[in-house]
Amino acid sequence: MTEFAFTPAEPRSLPIAGSSKRFPVRRIYCVGKNYAEHIKEMGGDAARSEPIFFTKAAETLVDSGHNIPYPPNTKNVHYEVELVVAIGPDGIFGYGVGIDLTRRDLQADAKSKGGPWSRAKNFHCSAPCSALTPATNVDLSKAHIVLRKNGDIVQHGALADMIWSVDEIIDRLRQDMDLQPGDLIYTGTPEGVGPVIVGDELSGGIEGLERITVRFV
Ligand code: MN
Repeated sequence: MTEFAFTPAEPRSLPIAGSSKRFPVRRIYCVGKNYAEHIKEMGGDAARSEPIFFTKAAETLVDSGHNIPYPPNTKNVHYEVELVVAIGPDGIFGYGVGIDLTRRDLQADAKSKGGPWSRAKNFHCSAPCSALTPATNVDLSKAHIVLRKNGDIVQHGALADMIWSVDEIIDRLRQDMDLQPGDLIYTGTPEGVGPVIVGDELSGGIEGLERITVRFV
């Protein structure tokens, strides 16, 4: 047995709908530019840009119902509601609804300098995610994804509009990176991304899945 110099942090985990067990999270992969209308709103050309991958640490996860401290060193935190795919020992374990929080001003700065997106994407509490619904219980082929801010719909899209399907994303990650049980994949956001301020409540949903609701304090 490994002897550690100090007690390691507990692995991060997510609730599983209908179960008392939790899903142990290993890594968080995120897909950027996976809906054409979102690429357009960010000033890109959907015909010319390929989806991209970036990562967040498992430590950035936030369970539904929790408060999120407004992050430091930014004046422009954006929401991006996304289908989350959870990988288990036998392929897709389940699905959730996540919010890929982004310090958009730091991302714009990184893009202009050709620098990494880590500060823009991988900050404390930047990955809220709902409880996971086991994959055997859901059919997402006709599902829509919706985000409400303070009760008003701000993002709405059809999962069928993803440029890369869930299966294609998984294939690409297996070939290009590594995919193991416990990994989560945030699959990209539809159009309508926008800012939050302290006091705002975000609530995201997909038919058949658990909701993610968080508030900024
Ligand atoms: Mn995103």
